[in-house]
Amino acid sequence: MPGAITSETAMTSRPPISFPDGKQFAFSIFDDTDVATLEYIRPIYELLDRLGFRTTKSVWSLPYHGHSDYQGSDTLADPEYASYVRHLQQRRFEIAFHGARMESSERADIITAFEVFKENLGQYPTAYAAHGYNRDNLYWGVDRFRFRLWRWLYGAVLGGRRERPAEGHRVGSPYYWADLAAQHLRYMRSFTYNDLNLWNITAAVPYRTAGTPSVQGFFPSSFADNVEEFIELLSPARQEKLERERGLAIVGTHFGKGFLRDGEVHPAVVEVLTRLSQRPGWFQPVSTLLDYLAVAQGGVVHLAGYRLFCLEALWFWHSIRRPRNIRRYEKTQSPYLRRAIERRAPR
Ligand SMILES: [Zn+2]
Repeated sequence: MPGAITSETAMTSRPPISFPDGKQFAFSIFDDTDVATLEYIRPIYELLDRLGFRTTKSVWSLPYHGHSDYQGSDTLADPEYASYVRHLQQRRFEIAFHGARMESSERADIITAFEVFKENLGQYPTAYAAHGYNRDNLYWGVDRFRFRLWRWLYGAVLGGRRERPAEGHRVGSPYYWADLAAQHLRYMRSFTYNDLNLWNITAAVPYRTAGTPSVQGFFPSSFADNVEEFIELLSPARQEKLERERGLAIVGTHFGKGFLRDGEVHPAVVEVLTRLSQRPGWFQPVSTLLDYLAVAQGGVVHLAGYRLFCLEALWFWHSIRRPRNIRRYEKTQSPYLRRAIERRAPR
């Protein structure tokens, strides 16, 4: 049963890897671009830059003109935003792919999205995380699982049967782009967990599996949906534990969700990030970190059998316990989103 396999029982999985410059642990962030606007994210990235963090920010290349819960989010079609994203890249932040746009995209648009990305940033993205319920998501929904037991459980218990299937990896689907992923990307986020130290989940980071040949390397991640969850995930006690365990942290989050108060970064975020920056961590973008781990392990780890079964099982265990970690946040992004929509409205 998944309940029998906890992070605690898997806690011996730290691989014999040391970080450069005597750093004791590694920490990065993968920022999903949902509801992010230039005005909103700039103060957060200025803070990260000032504190010495180099992290990964995802973008959408293409705009979307229909109804969407994410409408108002900036994309590379917004020149000022695109210019700021290039500035971040010059400051050694990594820019990653969150799919072509905020809603589902067919293959031709995904090809365009890759080219728009390259025109703006001089190269194709290296890292990718699937977005919401987009139909073009890769190995997503029920297809995240390699084991029939977990596929069944996902469909039966977690509502997977009601989802429209994600088809990015299905040859013949209008949403197919797995061949492009294989060509352009090195890393894709797979499962997310509540534990800050990913080596308490698995030693295999990054990993690949026999059933997903289009993905060169997967990485698991911690996840904090919004500012309140982020503050909790990075509490002083958890930071201390991460350092003591000499661990590996990659935090997925949405900097668009509640990170500002009155135009400035939420004071508790300033506090947790400042504390963390004073610890002896290696603060690199996700792909830099994963490249380093891959080399240190003699390549991307091939994950199969019992270890892969446990990784999937732990996701269920964490998902079942997830409601305990859900935190509401004050939706401070709405005025920024409205302004972004007005800015783009035809005059
Ligand atoms: Zn998203």
